[in-house]
Amino acid sequence: MQTNPRQAINSALSRREFLGASMGAALLFAMGGGISCSDKAGPVQMLAALPYAESGLEPVISTKTVGLHYGKHHKGYVDKLNKLTSGTRLAGLPLEQIISATAGQPEQQAIFNNAAQAWNHDFYWRGLKPKGGGAPPAALKQKIEASFGSVEGCKKELAAAANDQFGSGWAWLVQDGERLKVTRTGNADLPLTQGLRPLLTIDVWEHAYYLDYQNRRADYVQAVIDKLIDWEFVEKNLLA
Ligand code: MN
Repeated sequence: MQTNPRQAINSALSRREFLGASMGAALLFAMGGGISCSDKAGPVQMLAALPYAESGLEPVISTKTVGLHYGKHHKGYVDKLNKLTSGTRLAGLPLEQIISATAGQPEQQAIFNNAAQAWNHDFYWRGLKPKGGGAPPAALKQKIEASFGSVEGCKKELAAAANDQFGSGWAWLVQDGERLKVTRTGNADLPLTQGLRPLLTIDVWEHAYYLDYQNRRADYVQAVIDKLIDWEFVEKNLLA
């Protein structure tokens, strides 16, 4: 059990990702981004572009839902994060660095929540694709079968985690060393803080499905699993 969130997050990232994030941070510090209480606006977090059109996930997730979810909710977290970190040493840092610097610290909860939600949403969008679903590629399929018995077993566990999450949160497929696991987190929390490497996530906040499915979260979850998962994205996230 990892108790230090910073250590846990670093262990969940690859060496390349960790060094990349650190170098980004060092560069920003060198550029003056590390000065506290600066009058200058300083570096900001950008909202990553959606990897498809807002209509790309129809009919599983409507254009209206994606428009609001991405354009209002996701953007809202990024904007709030920029407001909260403006003029501080955290402004514009890679999200993993902000998450690592604020996890488990009650006085930093607002920054953590908005940074984690920005990260979670970017990861959620990239884990889905138009006409997704289907069968995972061979190497991933083998890993899934070793951990869950079958792809069907993995999908069932993922759906159960998404449906059982009480209130707002996220269901995840994660890598824990050699094993793949299904887990869930409440509100903004994410597996990185437990040293687990995220491979895929499903957003189960009501804003993700209520316009299209109302109270039928299970129907949304099943449709996402069957028709939208980008299994190539999942495979790319595996740590060798
Ligand atoms: Mn959301």
